[in-house]
Amino acid sequence: MQVLKFGGSSLADANCFNQVAGIINQYTQQDSIATVVSAPQGITNRLVALIESLETPSADNLQTATINQQIQQHFQGILDQTQSDYPNIQLPAINEAYQALIAQLQNLIEGAGLLGRCPEATQAQILSTGEKFSVLLLKGFLTAFNHQVATIEPENFLTIDDKSVEPIANLEISKSRFAENYPAPGKVSLMPGFFGVKSSGDLATLGRNGSDYSAAILAVCIKADACVIWTDVNGVYNADPRLVTHAQLIDKMSYHEAMELSYFGAKVLHPKTISPLSLHQIPCLIKNTHQPQEPGTLISDESGSGEVVKAISNLSDVAMINVSGPGMKGMVGMASRVFSAISLANISVIMISQSSAEYSISFCVPGNEAEAARECLNEAFELELKSELLEPISVKKELAVVTLVGDHMQQQKGIAAKFFRALSQARVNIIAIAQDSSERSISAVIRDERTDDAVKVCHQNLFLKKPTIDAIVIGCGTVGKELIAQIQKQQQWLSDKNIILKLVAIANSRQLLLNKSGINISNNWQQDLQNSSESLSLERLNQFVSEAHLTNPVIVDCTSSNVIAMQYVDFLANGYHVVTANKKANTENYDYYAKIRAMAEKKHRRFLYETNVGAGLPVIDNLQGLLRAGDELIQFEGILSGSLSFIFGELHKGLSLSQATLKAKELGFTEPNPAEDLSGLDVARKVLVIAREAGLKLELEDINLEPVVPQALAEITDAAEFMEKLPAFDATFQPQIDAAENNQQVLRYIAQIKDGQCHVKIQAVDASHPLYSVTDGENALAINTHYYQPRPVVIRGYGAGAAVTAAGLFGDILRTLAWEQEH
Ligand code: ADP
Ligand code: ASP
Ligand code: MG
Repeated sequence: MQVLKFGGSSLADANCFNQVAGIINQYTQQDSIATVVSAPQGITNRLVALIESLETPSADNLQTATINQQIQQHFQGILDQTQSDYPNIQLPAINEAYQALIAQLQNLIEGAGLLGRCPEATQAQILSTGEKFSVLLLKGFLTAFNHQVATIEPENFLTIDDKSVEPIANLEISKSRFAENYPAPGKVSLMPGFFGVKSSGDLATLGRNGSDYSAAILAVCIKADACVIWTDVNGVYNADPRLVTHAQLIDKMSYHEAMELSYFGAKVLHPKTISPLSLHQIPCLIKNTHQPQEPGTLISDESGSGEVVKAISNLSDVAMINVSGPGMKGMVGMASRVFSAISLANISVIMISQSSAEYSISFCVPGNEAEAARECLNEAFELELKSELLEPISVKKELAVVTLVGDHMQQQKGIAAKFFRALSQARVNIIAIAQDSSERSISAVIRDERTDDAVKVCHQNLFLKKPTIDAIVIGCGTVGKELIAQIQKQQQWLSDKNIILKLVAIANSRQLLLNKSGINISNNWQQDLQNSSESLSLERLNQFVSEAHLTNPVIVDCTSSNVIAMQYVDFLANGYHVVTANKKANTENYDYYAKIRAMAEKKHRRFLYETNVGAGLPVIDNLQGLLRAGDELIQFEGILSGSLSFIFGELHKGLSLSQATLKAKELGFTEPNPAEDLSGLDVARKVLVIAREAGLKLELEDINLEPVVPQALAEITDAAEFMEKLPAFDATFQPQIDAAENNQQVLRYIAQIKDGQCHVKIQAVDASHPLYSVTDGENALAINTHYYQPRPVVIRGYGAGAAVTAAGLFGDILRTLAWEQEH
């Protein structure tokens, strides 16, 4: 004999009923089957609303009438669909029973209406309507398979303990009453789930979601070989699959694990289901009605060989009560008084948090019982509260409990540390913690609104081990475009490395394109961006990140915009990492420079700007590494401009300054207006970045900058005008070239840091100088430090261009993961 239970999600419409009947029919080929059914999805919620409306009577009872009508329409809809899609079902036979059910519901409503309230037994009767409907319709479907269907009535055996706070079945009485009433259950029988009777004979429910529990009780009474819970997912996942897209299916788990998991909120099983099954060693299988071929999850004595942490669950709408005060110390029996008051008020305690019981006692209760808990404690401790031996009872609401579950956690060190670290990475504040004494579960109490993020990041860190980056690219010029292309190109590599890098936003100065699952880069994203009616603002980004529950958002600034650069502190304050190719922020006033770093540290976010100097060359990272190891910068010399490196190389191949500049411009090596390169300002900004990195508190004005061309020329903002006027300067410039060549030297535009000062100017260097041979757009940096002397460490390579800059940004983006890669 096997017990099958079908939940509301498996009985949503006529097609579902047909599918369920098919599954039962299949099972009957091998075994006798007793089936427990829930109400069709959505019905119980409506019945609950109906009861609420009966409890708050209004003059016209309009609300009650409306809900009543909705319920009947809901039922009728399923019946109508049955009639049209399954003409072989004998509806007239069902209809009589259905009319009786509706008439009974009507009577109950009228009775409660007259009474002005809805007593508990009436409530249970009203609530049982949904399950009773499922039985009568499913009976029709099974009859069409030529089965003789018997009905098992819970009223006849399923006995609920009168004394317990929550509805708990009395298994012994239930077993013997079942044996009396159903000595020989037939081949196919049906039972409505969700309710039973008290010893008085009054109907009572087993609590929301209680049909699972009904099935377990029936399985025990009927001595079933297995209890199969059919639902709308493939089994038990290691996190709520509605919350975590990558939740993984668990093939086997122990009774204990299933109990803890359901107790701490995994809705897939009613929390009391497993206990009777475990007691009688009845295996429980969770399967998907819509995919019956899938193997499902087996719950038995065996935990299976899987992960140490089996799953993570979350329980929402919890309140935490704290009883504390100076009088707690030394007062005998405080804990027992607190908990007996709570239990007398029929309030169930979800968990007790670890704290020094001498001074305070903290525990969690369901949110809707928080006020009742406060009241009963106020009463029980009236005297102590009056005499201020106790502080007023504190009640924190809107909390959630997030729990890790696993039988093997007890043998493993460091699980709690990983758990709490993950919560901190999700920027979730832990309000209290608790661990069960067998170490099979660890729970943290957090603010309810943070649950989604907490569960996602914990799942990511503890199971998926797939760190995620949610990239927000601002600026779609050549560098931005190239970066987006590289992100696309590297998807396979990232996936091989178990990294999820999603491009969730692209913005230019006018538009903003958002997609929480990742913008499809292979599509024409440019067009989508152009069509977007949104524009970039921190508020909009925050709203998006919060609604999409992105946990690792990284802003990648590919602009040279001052406006964006001036928002970095706000970005960091709001929890974004910032990766930037834009030098503006690092070369603004020193105050702002310091503020960015302070905020990054405070918020544990990364601020990364490797591409500020030498594009993809590893300059900043190297320098930081040396300084961290106690090194100090003594002297720096570098060619920091790709365009000037090219131009100066050409000068010694016989071109004049204007010819070399024109060539560089034509090859696309310069800014659209080469005056910007020849002004040296960009180089000055770069050397300032290095100087500040080395600890010098300098401002941009402190850099001794000698432009390549006279200031008047350098300031020309029109490219054509500049190119026209530049040749006139050749004659003045040429002697410098000739003089250098006569001395076997070459001219180089060099940035220097020496004795706490920065200089940017043309220098003539001979063949022994590390920058002598640097031409063709290469950058080179010679860094003398205490560790690197007399010979400097030299970093050399192409220091400009979209590809190398984007590669540098890509590297920085991956660096934001450093905190997650320690598995
Ligand atoms: P039924 O109507 O079959 O009783 P429920 O809605 O009560 O179904 O329970 C199934 C739902 O439980 C799933 O759809 C899923 O969203 C939710 N759930 C929560 N946690 C888990 C988990 N760890 N594994 C599987 N499902 C879970
Ligand atoms: N129909 C009931 C509910 O929705 C019982 C169940 O589905 O398990 O709570
Ligand atoms: Mg359920």
